[in-house]
Amino acid sequence: MGTLPIARQFDEVSKELVAKQDLLVAAHTERDDIKHELSRAEVDVEQVVARIERDEKRLSSGQGSPKELEQLQHELGSLGKRRAELEEVELEIMVRIEEVDKRIRELDGECNSLKEQVGDLKARKEDELSSLESSAKRTIEARAELAPMIDGELLSLYEKVRASGDGIGAAKLVGNQCMGCHLTMNAAELTRIKALADDEVVRCEECRRILIRLD
Ligand SMILES: [Zn+2]
Repeated sequence: MGTLPIARQFDEVSKELVAKQDLLVAAHTERDDIKHELSRAEVDVEQVVARIERDEKRLSSGQGSPKELEQLQHELGSLGKRRAELEEVELEIMVRIEEVDKRIRELDGECNSLKEQVGDLKARKEDELSSLESSAKRTIEARAELAPMIDGELLSLYEKVRASGDGIGAAKLVGNQCMGCHLTMNAAELTRIKALADDEVVRCEECRRILIRLD
C-alpha cells in the first residue's frame, strides 16, 4: 500500500524534530561541561589571588631577611603573570559559554517551530485519513447495494479479474481504447465487439479486464 504524501511529510518532519532535540540535549550537556570548567578556572584564580594577598601582607610587614623579601617580590611577579594567564583562560571559557548559549537559543527556536509543524501535519494527516476512511465506507456500501443485482457468474469473473488486475476488474472502452491498460485495439476487433449483443461479456485482449461498452 502506498503512503499518503502528508503521512510521509509528517514522518520526515518528526524525524527532523528528533534530530534537533538530540542536538539540543548535546548542547545542554556541553554547556554543563563548560560550566564545570569555569568553576575550576575560578578556583584556580581564587587560589592565586589568595597567595598574592598573603605575600603582599608579608612584604608590607617588612619581616624577614632582605633575601627573603627579594624572593617574595620575585614570587609576586610570577604570581601576577600566572593570575593574568588564568584570568585569560576564564575569559575564554566565558566566551565559549556565550557561544553555546546562542546555539541553545537557536536550537530552541528551531525545535519549537518544528513542534508546531509536526502538530499541524498530524492534524492534517488525521483529517485526510478519516476522509479516506469515510470514502472507502461509502464505496463499500454502494458496492453492497449493487452486487446482488449482478449475475453471479459475472460477479465471480469480475472478482477473479480484479484480483489479478491491480484491483481493477472492469474498465471502460472509450473509442478504441481500454481504460484499464490504456492500449488501443485495431479496427477489426472494434467492429467485432460492436457487433456483439449488449449483454455479451467482452474482455480486453491485452489486460483481460471486462470491458464496459458505453456506446
Ligand atoms: Zn485492457
